[in-house]
Amino acid sequence: MDNFQHLQIRCLDCGHLTDYRPIEIQCPACGSMWREAVYNYPHVAEKWRLDLPNRPFNLWRYKELLPSQTPSPYITLGEGGTPLIHAVNLGMMLGVQGIYIKDERQGPTRSFKDRQASVTIAAIKDAGITEIVAASTGNVAIAYSAYAARAGIKLWGFVTSLVPAVKMREIALYGSQVIKVTGSYDQTKKIAAEFAAQRGLYQDMGSRTITAIEAMKTIAFEIAEQLTRQLGPKTHPETGKPLWRTPDWYIQAVSGGMGPLGVMKGFAELQRMGLIDHIPAFAAIQAAGCQPMVTAWKADQPEATPVESPNTYIETLATGSPGRTYTMLYHWAKRVGGTFEAVSDDEAFRAMHVLAKMEGISMEPAAGVAFAGLFKLIRAGIIKPGDVVVVNCTGHTMPTEPIVLGEGWARNVIIPSKTGLLKQPETQPQSDKDKGATEDGLLAALDQVAPERFPRIAIVDDTAEARRLVRRILQSQGDFEILEADNGRDALELIRTSKPDLVVLDLMMPEMDGFTVLEKLKEDPQTAQIPVIVSTAKILTPREKARLQGRIQALMQKGNFMSDDFLNEVRSILD
Ligand SMILES: *Cc1c(COP(=O)(O)O)cnc(C)c1O
Ligand SMILES: [Zn+2]
Repeated sequence: MDNFQHLQIRCLDCGHLTDYRPIEIQCPACGSMWREAVYNYPHVAEKWRLDLPNRPFNLWRYKELLPSQTPSPYITLGEGGTPLIHAVNLGMMLGVQGIYIKDERQGPTRSFKDRQASVTIAAIKDAGITEIVAASTGNVAIAYSAYAARAGIKLWGFVTSLVPAVKMREIALYGSQVIKVTGSYDQTKKIAAEFAAQRGLYQDMGSRTITAIEAMKTIAFEIAEQLTRQLGPKTHPETGKPLWRTPDWYIQAVSGGMGPLGVMKGFAELQRMGLIDHIPAFAAIQAAGCQPMVTAWKADQPEATPVESPNTYIETLATGSPGRTYTMLYHWAKRVGGTFEAVSDDEAFRAMHVLAKMEGISMEPAAGVAFAGLFKLIRAGIIKPGDVVVVNCTGHTMPTEPIVLGEGWARNVIIPSKTGLLKQPETQPQSDKDKGATEDGLLAALDQVAPERFPRIAIVDDTAEARRLVRRILQSQGDFEILEADNGRDALELIRTSKPDLVVLDLMMPEMDGFTVLEKLKEDPQTAQIPVIVSTAKILTPREKARLQGRIQALMQKGNFMSDDFLNEVRSILD
């Protein structure tokens, strides 16, 4: 064991310092529940310089800055160490190349609450606790349940009745007691606290729980290490020493705000250790139906007025009363830069769709809120094209909730039986005499999946990434035959021979540019009627605009078009 004092707990109200005791939830001097862990930073910095390169990439590699240093192998499930994914397609779509996704879906129970649960359970297990209470909008109770199962701790999980049934069943599956409360999340928290007090049980107190904040800060440590690995180290302007990288922005969907509070503490600790030179700005995104922080921030107030009846489908983010956590985040935002923004449920669902279709990442609606916030902040010019942005993808969609997809997301194949009668799908098991469905029948059935000829679209662009982006946007909707050309001359040839229903044309290409291609298409009676969408990164001069005038169906600015807008444009042209 290291011979330095590991950590101390400092009261945020009176400054009193004590040793860390997992079951102590108040300052012994003044009774405040708002306290934070402090460490011997220079000592840890020295130790990390030597040891960190040889440790596995998971949450416990930062053990010197955690309350529990030696987690039992009976508790860990491989928490932390989630990938930082460069969102190349999304970056092209939005015109911001440096977008990175911290993929917290890859935690053991599929949300970033795994960090909180693993560190907390490790600490309280050491203290001999065997029964705990957690109020939750779903994910906290799921994460705690998994770790509690391993640690031999019983969990009472208080959830609002609005939590999706799949999540409630998941909590129960781990052997926890689910208590459904018909009321708001804030009411649920009060009832859980009452229950814990009556029975003398340990209760998770969100941002006031030392282990929760300490766990969340490991997200900052990982981001800094991963960005450094992907982009290379920075050098200190004076000492010439290598520094870890930090993004310009950390973006997260928030409910109570514990995540960003922990992440900001993490970056501040890295700065104190001399490992980074600046703390990123953060953007906290709320669901519009429950946005107490955003309302207070926009009125420049350090205290939030509680929202009594949250009105959002996104239950995960339904903390109506963020209390002091907001005030602390407010001061962080004033100090390091930052903002609070709200998005509608629909915007979040749409962002979920975009991320699934464009980056292969399926997330829960709450995480979609963060991405919808990203779109909004870029559009507003608050996030700049050159910024490096890390978005926390906080949770996975576990079974996709039907409301997100709407109707028509699957197609039915009904195979006609020999007798010629159509069988309804999923009725009785097939009887023997149906087995010989003719090949004609099968082929006919496939017509129900997709028509024989798809609308044909030619993509003309000299960069492969841009063609891939447009192809992907079209493909994600299924029904197009897509042809590609990477220069003007080949494009003309391709369009003349294949007669596409639509051309998506880039303007700036070597040899023969898009303007010329367009002119030649319009001169030739065979191709003059084919609709053209121009997609360009160029800001057009009035003269160039005049050259396009009346000859194209739509102009899409590259790096500034959302897939849905583009698809709507395509559909309206093909209809
Ligand atoms: C808990 C949770 C949030 C909100 O986190 P806070 O930092 O506590 O506000 C966002 N997304 C998901 C998926 C969550 O589970
Ligand atoms: Zn105190």
